[in-house]
Amino acid sequence: MTLVLDSSALFSMQDLPGEDSVTVPGVWDELRRYNDPRVDYWEGLLRTASPGEASLAEVRGAAEGSGDLGRLSTTDVELLALAWELGARLLTDDYSMQNTARIIGVSCVTVGAQGIKKVWRWRYRCLGCGRSEERDMGECPVCGSRMKSVRAR
Ligand SMILES: [Zn+2]
Repeated sequence: MTLVLDSSALFSMQDLPGEDSVTVPGVWDELRRYNDPRVDYWEGLLRTASPGEASLAEVRGAAEGSGDLGRLSTTDVELLALAWELGARLLTDDYSMQNTARIIGVSCVTVGAQGIKKVWRWRYRCLGCGRSEERDMGECPVCGSRMKSVRAR
């Protein structure tokens, strides 16, 4: 069965699941925005697809009704629509996505339940003062030195 992967799932996994996996273009943009070094070796392994307008409308309608729409990004809506369209399962740890998925009949799996170990996230550490940041700021906001991506628990 096909598995649609959201960014929160990708951010928390060390390796891709061993099933047919697909995501939407917005997720790649997000990984690139965080300068995620895994983009390079995942790019050949993870398929990318975009949902059609009818699927997007289905998801927006469901999420509006449940009050989840305001908490879903454009990318989140696309992921839900793609899972619905493909009859795929959705891998996500996001509550609003899980809730909307339930309404439209898409089954969800969480990263932990999928047997995928949540090993680490990337953080960015300053090579000068050692300050640690969630996202890549290019240079350290404190001392201006270069920042390097590091694994974090
Ligand atoms: Zn610094």
